[in-house]
Amino acid sequence: MEASKKKSPSPIAWVLGQAGSHGEQFALSVILAVLGVAFSVAPYFAVVGIVKGLMAGERNLSYYLIQAGLIALMWLGRVLCHAFSTAASHRATFAVLGEIRKRCTEKLTRMPLGAVLAQSSGALKNTLIERIDSIETTLAHIVPEFTANLLIPVIITVYIFTIDWRMGLASLATVPLGMFFYIWMMATSAGFYQATIDNTKALNNTAVEYINGIQVIKVFGKTKSSYERFVKDAHAAAGAFIGWMRASIIPFTFAMVVMPATMVSVLPIGGLLVKGGTLSGQDFITVIILSVGLITPLITLMSYSDDIRTMGTIFGEVQAILDAPEQERPATGDAPKGNDLKLEDVHFSYAEVVAKAATSGEDSAKGDPAAVKPLTVEDREGPRDMEILHGVSMEVPEGSFVALVGPSGSGKSTIARLIAALWDVNGGSISLGGKDIRDISQEAYADRVAFVSQDNYLFNMTVRENIRLGRPGATDAEVEAAARNSGCHEFILGLEHGYDTLVGSSGGHLSGGERQRISIARAMLKAAPIVILDEATAYTDPENEAVIQRSVSKLTAGKTLIVIAHRLSTVTDADRIYVVNDGAIEDSGTHEELLSHHGLYEKMWKAHMEVKDNG
Ligand code: ADP
Repeated sequence: MEASKKKSPSPIAWVLGQAGSHGEQFALSVILAVLGVAFSVAPYFAVVGIVKGLMAGERNLSYYLIQAGLIALMWLGRVLCHAFSTAASHRATFAVLGEIRKRCTEKLTRMPLGAVLAQSSGALKNTLIERIDSIETTLAHIVPEFTANLLIPVIITVYIFTIDWRMGLASLATVPLGMFFYIWMMATSAGFYQATIDNTKALNNTAVEYINGIQVIKVFGKTKSSYERFVKDAHAAAGAFIGWMRASIIPFTFAMVVMPATMVSVLPIGGLLVKGGTLSGQDFITVIILSVGLITPLITLMSYSDDIRTMGTIFGEVQAILDAPEQERPATGDAPKGNDLKLEDVHFSYAEVVAKAATSGEDSAKGDPAAVKPLTVEDREGPRDMEILHGVSMEVPEGSFVALVGPSGSGKSTIARLIAALWDVNGGSISLGGKDIRDISQEAYADRVAFVSQDNYLFNMTVRENIRLGRPGATDAEVEAAARNSGCHEFILGLEHGYDTLVGSSGGHLSGGERQRISIARAMLKAAPIVILDEATAYTDPENEAVIQRSVSKLTAGKTLIVIAHRLSTVTDADRIYVVNDGAIEDSGTHEELLSHHGLYEKMWKAHMEVKDNG
């Protein structure tokens, strides 16, 4: 990708690059911060004025009162500027981070599903929610405070130099030594810092997996070993953090003690100069007052370095998401003519998609290897380079009923997912109405295909909204009509708040059969001309079977239907049955034709009838 080749910019520059229309708010924040700086520096000069008055023997009280009044006003101005500057910055920061989150989530919908799944869901959620959240405060404060803390010492130093350049040098004498310690700290802690980030991330993922998998862990009695992994990761994270602190503490302490000790050089050097008669007593006192406040802002500035480093890491992760390869689809374009589907010599490997996602992640997260850690296929399934489909060709004419049958693991679901465009083929092509589906816009294609899959995901919102996802503009009456047709209406009315009942996340509060029916209602509302049905779980629930079978036939009446069949008896009247074996089409034809071939289909059919008879 173009963007991933670019050198990564500094975190602040990165945010400003994303700021867009909110840039003005940041600019306002900086202008107010600079005004605040003026109000912060001015009191020093008022104090100098007071000292000068005292030394000149000024006895008029009003002179001092005016100076004191000015100081109070300046202070008020500073507080107001700071408050407004920070408010503007917070507003801009929230808006920008919101924008960044939105772009990331939109991006996920354009990535091939494989690339999204290649990243652990814990890591993805962590980046989008917690990690982006964690930088809000820093980012909002950094803009105004960085400006203030940088400008104040610069202005004061320049002023001291105008009084006497030798005193200027004296007031900065501790800076090089302090910087030496500071750089030492940064250099030694860099590796530890990275280790801390990596280990914390690993801990986070383990925690998410541990909680997600708690049911399996309990059922299979893996409590001890899973918990041990969690404890091991927690220790590793703690160890890395302690190592980081240990490596930093000595140089950090020296830097913090040495740097602000300006008096160590200002007092003796100034004293000598006054004694030598080349510096007036008045100027000496002025320099003492000014140099007291010189270093503190610099130290505050340095304390941001860790925060900036953390922000850099987080923005690296965000950038890696934004730079990930997308399914290449035109934004608009002519709709395909007709709905004939055709697969020609399709080759596909999950490994290739995942490998692509992995390289792009590494690319864009340069200098931050921890940014994206995709699970490799080895982590999931076994060896890499496993081609799952080896040249699959199929024809699904508009309005026909096509079934995919074959042993488990032969590639049926994979074919269905490719047709649903959840992944893209690695070789060959899939076309709709004579047009390669990669040349059809995502929206246009999604309008034509409904996928009722094994993962009938329901969101944590009302039943009504869950169904309406099928067609966002649908009226309540249309939603209810779809619910009636899919046999949902009765049980929905029986729920506590009817259609307005919130279903738990992943549909946790509904039974499996009810969830399936709702996802069928959703597909009905969508009214897509092509329906892909994964039968795997559709009939597992005996009491639902009749209802679901009826609603499926309503859903698919007059449409193209592609069924991944697990029970051959449900597809005997298919127009064409494709027998998938080991990632290739072994045979195809109608039920009768296939039986007459005396091949795999006949064997499967016999096995199916036996099970049926015995059951
Ligand atoms: P079927 O639907 O015929 O049971 P699938 O299409 O689900 O078969 O699986 C075909 C092969 O692809 C299997 O070897 C399976 O392990 C592999 N596979 C399925 N899903 C994934 C995935 N998300 N990542 C990697 N490999 C997968």
